[in-house]
Amino acid sequence: MFRFEHEWGISRPRDAGPRVVGRIIALGPNTKGLAVGQRVGVGWFSGSDMHCHQCLSGNHHPLPQGQATIIGHRGGFASRVRTHWAWPSPLPEKLNFAEAGPLLCGGITVFNPLAMHAKPTDRVGIIGIGGLGHMAVKFAAAYGSM
Ligand SMILES: [Zn+2]
Repeated sequence: MFRFEHEWGISRPRDAGPRVVGRIIALGPNTKGLAVGQRVGVGWFSGSDMHCHQCLSGNHHPLPQGQATIIGHRGGFASRVRTHWAWPSPLPEKLNFAEAGPLLCGGITVFNPLAMHAKPTDRVGIIGIGGLGHMAVKFAAAYGSM
């Protein structure tokens, strides 16, 4: 039986599926860099105000007031997900959708710090080899930092 924790006080039983992968079926008139039929994914956030300094600088991902993909929405369990064009990540045709899901949450969580703070000639330490740590080790090894 499913036990619903409700730890944050904002969840409901249907709030699940924060990593969404699929193909674009429609685009708004001002969309840039995306095409109908393109494979994309969105993670925890799928929108933001897109007019503050942080959003306009292209650094909208760590914005604390971003629109969550599942809070108040059905996330990956919806038949369609609407997102601002700046939020979906294009996915290569050869990447299996099931393998893309973890990259949109734990993957980006550990990839960003490596991309921002490590160079291929650096050595990095990764503490904790669970889901995130496992991906961090793989990214660091591919980057040449292990
Ligand atoms: Zn903003």
